[in-house]
Amino acid sequence: MAKLFATEQAQVIIDKAVQLHGGDGVRTGQTVERLYREIRALRIYEGASDVQKIIIARQTLGAHKEGP
Ligand SMILES: Cc1cc2nc3c(=O)[nH]c(=O)nc-3n(C[C@H](O)[C@H](O)[C@H](O)COP(=O)(O)OP(=O)(O)OC[C@H]3O[C@@H](n4cnc5c(N)ncnc54)[C@H](O)[C@@H]3O)c2cc1C
Repeated sequence: MAKLFATEQAQVIIDKAVQLHGGDGVRTGQTVERLYREIRALRIYEGASDVQKIIIARQTLGAHKEGP
């Protein structure tokens, strides 16, 4: 849950940073352009966001089912 939340929020923030920098934000060699690519990858490796959601849903629903 922490990984999903942190990486999704990082994506929102870096997207705003790129927007703030305008055209420079997407130019190769710019720090925000590099960070955008690096942060985008965080939502894929070590458990893609979609897969994380499935795992969380299964555990949440499973826990609920086993409850009183
Ligand atoms: C920068 C980077 C570094 C990496 N480093 C390593 C490393 O050191 N060691 C290592 O072993 N691997 C590494 N990987 C690989 C990484 O773990 C995989 O890319 C990741 O597990 C996703 O697998 P995939 O690329 O085959 O995409 P897929 O699994 O094919 O996923 C493609 C898309 O489909 C979605 N998806 C997949 N399954 C489902 C599902 N059941 N339901 C709904 N949506 C689904 C995903 O969320 C994603 O959007 C790295 C990847 C990157 C980008």
